[in-house]
Amino acid sequence: MRCPFCGKDNTRVIDSRPAEDGNAIRRRRECDVCRKRFTTYEKVEMIPLIVIKKDNNRETYDRSKIEGGVFRACHKRPISADQIKSMIDEVEAGIFKKEAREISSREIGEMVMEKLKDLDSVAYVRFASVYREFKDVNTFMDELKKMLG
Ligand SMILES: [Zn+2]
Repeated sequence: MRCPFCGKDNTRVIDSRPAEDGNAIRRRRECDVCRKRFTTYEKVEMIPLIVIKKDNNRETYDRSKIEGGVFRACHKRPISADQIKSMIDEVEAGIFKKEAREISSREIGEMVMEKLKDLDSVAYVRFASVYREFKDVNTFMDELKKMLG
């Protein structure tokens, strides 16, 4: 790190401590040449995840959108808010594990359906029918048969 006073590179860290609720590290540095001291902050770089929608438009990833869809699908089903929360946590962990900068909404939907299938079959079919945009009752029945059979 270059000294802001004399411009030399010979600076060293004399103290490090967490700052701003632990989201940053504050370092006191001293220049070996001019002996002046200064402070630097080190932060985690947050890379926003981009979701590619069906119409190819992009938007920033938003957990509440998944939540909304899942809550609607689970309406009046014997599934607790905690179950939904931990299910979405799992989906989210899967999304971020990919370390991709972009993910399609379709891929997210498939991940949600995979989890919903184990949780509640009615909620699963509801979610799938909205998600896959079943055009008629036949596609709906096909999906249902696939699931039951
Ligand atoms: Zn200096």
